[in-house]
Amino acid sequence: MLKIFNTLSNKKEVFKTDSNLVKIYGCGPTVYDHPHIGNFRTFIFYDLLIRTLHLNNYDTQSAINITDIDDKIISRSIAEKKNMQDITLKYEKSFIDASRKLKILKNEFYPRATDHVEDMIAFIQKLVDKNYAYVVNGNVYFDIKNYTNYGKFVNLKTLDDDIENDLDKKNKNDFVLWKAWKSEDGNIFWESAWGKGRPAWHTECAVISQKILGNKIDIHCGGIDLKFPHHENECAQIESITNKNFANYWLHSEHLNIEDEKMSKSLGNSLSIEDMLKKYSSNIIRMFLLSSHYRSKISLSKSKLEESKKMINRISRFAEKFSTNEFDFTKNDLSDKHQSFIDAINDDLNTPKALGIFFEFISDTNKALTKRKDLKKINQESIIFLNLFNSIFQVVDIQNSDDKVFPQEINELLLSRQQARDNKDWILSDKIRDKLFNLGWIVEDSLDGQKLLKKK
Ligand SMILES: [Zn+2]
Repeated sequence: MLKIFNTLSNKKEVFKTDSNLVKIYGCGPTVYDHPHIGNFRTFIFYDLLIRTLHLNNYDTQSAINITDIDDKIISRSIAEKKNMQDITLKYEKSFIDASRKLKILKNEFYPRATDHVEDMIAFIQKLVDKNYAYVVNGNVYFDIKNYTNYGKFVNLKTLDDDIENDLDKKNKNDFVLWKAWKSEDGNIFWESAWGKGRPAWHTECAVISQKILGNKIDIHCGGIDLKFPHHENECAQIESITNKNFANYWLHSEHLNIEDEKMSKSLGNSLSIEDMLKKYSSNIIRMFLLSSHYRSKISLSKSKLEESKKMINRISRFAEKFSTNEFDFTKNDLSDKHQSFIDAINDDLNTPKALGIFFEFISDTNKALTKRKDLKKINQESIIFLNLFNSIFQVVDIQNSDDKVFPQEINELLLSRQQARDNKDWILSDKIRDKLFNLGWIVEDSLDGQKLLKKK
């Protein structure tokens, strides 16, 4: 039974849906720069959610929008004297490449805002016609006084009075749906009944999600900073017209903080995924992001990444003991240990707890292996667990090769070489490397740790 924390009710709820196909919408990147690790905390969380739904035998259909019209994009395009598209396509590609490198499951849809402007204009007209929106100097605003349900995600009384004070607006929290053209926008505009301009971001997600996924969306997700006002405003626009819940579940992931100043310096002050992948493997980055619960804040630091690297090494060394060819397992093959891992994931995607259960299994199994009893059972249980674990974390590079089963002596040498490396004893590490070479094995040191190849 899958439970998830619904921001709408502010509690954990049993996930229910009337169809086996779950529709998910996640707010996507604004493509004016390379994506950084903070953006990918959110995208890895979407991936975790989709993998968890698959574990529970649901099919999914998901969309992540590409915001390719925005103030930052326009100012960058003017400053660099480039076409807006030259900029947006470059960074959209960067986002897609980083997603692939981080082994994020492909979403069905990546709709671009600029491909849906006509739909947004028609939608804004509908809101104007129904008196939920008004026009001032070519800008169109949503009138929250005409919509009684405003304030689903936030207590409006607690909001600071000073936020965004625009003289054109009737009420403080009214928000813009259509932005009138300004001279700074250059030749970037669309024609509309209210004059030249462009749609605003809150309208983008509201319109695209309905256009792509239809008006029954199961889960809408995003980073916690989008809860208010972005998601509140998306709801207001859609629900004022449909009178129905826009999405049944709203899930939000917490922030990633960067506390380690040294670290941001060593990465050249850039925490772009592209740069991080030069120093840390995708497995290490995934492990770092998934080792905390999605609703807890996490801090990025060199030591945390090193810790993740050690975890990856430990799992790889364990996986190397088995011929971990991927295979389908059925529910009948699952033991209590597997089930407790699944229960942790199904308890609002509790990855740190699940990880703890998996590491406990590794220790227990390593001990059991030394007794050399019930080897067949241990083997099967371990292979199932590795596959199950990987279906969620995706950090073990499972190879379909029988070369993976190393003789005991070789395993022990690898282990002592890893210990030597952990102790920065490079002389010993090199000695063991040479010994392995003489025994017919080549060791390569990769970002994930040691890789062993048989000499040809
Ligand atoms: Zn959005």
